[in-house]
Amino acid sequence: MKVFKFGGASVKESKAVRNVAEILGRYKSGELLVVISAMGKTTNSLENLVNAFYSGDTDINPIFAEIKAFHYNIISELIPDSKAPIHTDIEDLFLEMECMLERGVGKDDYDMIYDQIVSYGELISTRIVSDYLQSAGIRNKWVDARNFIITDSTYREGRVNWEETSRIIDRKLKPIAERSLVITQGFIGKDNFNNTTTLGREGSDYSAAIFAYCLKAESLTIWKDVAGVMNADPKRLADAVKLEQINYNQAIELAYYGASVIHPKTIQPLQSSDIPLYVSSFINPDEKGTVVNNDRSGGLPSCYIFKDEQSLISVSTRNFSFIAEDNLGDLFTLFSECRIRINVMQNSAISFSVCVDTDERKINMLKERLSEDFIVSVTTGCMLVTVYNSNDKDDLVPVIG
Ligand code: ASP
Ligand code: MG
Repeated sequence: MKVFKFGGASVKESKAVRNVAEILGRYKSGELLVVISAMGKTTNSLENLVNAFYSGDTDINPIFAEIKAFHYNIISELIPDSKAPIHTDIEDLFLEMECMLERGVGKDDYDMIYDQIVSYGELISTRIVSDYLQSAGIRNKWVDARNFIITDSTYREGRVNWEETSRIIDRKLKPIAERSLVITQGFIGKDNFNNTTTLGREGSDYSAAIFAYCLKAESLTIWKDVAGVMNADPKRLADAVKLEQINYNQAIELAYYGASVIHPKTIQPLQSSDIPLYVSSFINPDEKGTVVNNDRSGGLPSCYIFKDEQSLISVSTRNFSFIAEDNLGDLFTLFSECRIRINVMQNSAISFSVCVDTDERKINMLKERLSEDFIVSVTTGCMLVTVYNSNDKDDLVPVIG
């Protein structure tokens, strides 16, 4: 059994979906479980929809209309027969969303309503892909990932209940996956109250790794629009090179610092069962991509990682006293309570600076609490540049140049 993951870019238009079908057509039923993300930039649009709904001061209708039109257009190109059930199936899903918004479900809990609404991106995309595959003669079974990925109720960052998830996947999903090609969603799960949860932005890679681990898959392949894992984003550094092989630890480090090809949480479940991860190009599926495995014998060139949308938060004491262990303890507690992950930090005698992902809502909350005891400044619009495994003093040249 293999697990494949196709991200938003691989299903962003009808042509792309046809390409996915072409790749899947090469495999036999019972060999594959396929995890698919929301189409194109749908998750961003759904986020805008939730923000508009939550703030109450923006009309949600135009945003909603655009999301619908985008999907209806893809469906009409893939499955032109207007009597095909997919048309009403997708209408029903949109109607469910509308009813939820109408009833104001979770209106007082942003994270909760976010998960209930944003998760539709994946539900809709997988329905479309599954029905298209069916119409193209590729028999498959659509399954709802929420029946299998069980999390706690930390909305927008659900923590997986591994015991329950692996038990239910083994008992209920494995027999299905051994018989048919399974199409399911990334990013989403369910908590014990039957509410939908999500695993954090770009979490579909992680979903795929969870399925791979629980199904004891022989490998996981993440299909991307790049040739594999590169030592830099080729859009930023023209002479970026593909890495043929990296080990799990290197992959975790690269992902942690922001190499966006792999979600940071993806590696750990794979590493624990020694499941190789292939990062391959859906544009050139026959080309060898990158393999991430246990082999530690290979060297690694210097890697340059650019992480946008960063904020620099600097904290200093009001009375010029040192930032020392006792203050640091309080500071870390506050960061963790506001669920802000520190990407990099530096402390000097009287100040403590960290770089974090920009999230206005969370940062404002943190700033308010920090300001009770400290002087706080926040600089947005920063970029974090990491040189990993720097092995040449000339390495910095391309970054600065
Ligand atoms: N659709 C979700 C997102 O864009 C999850 C994913 O694509 O991995 O964040
Ligand atoms: Mg994505």
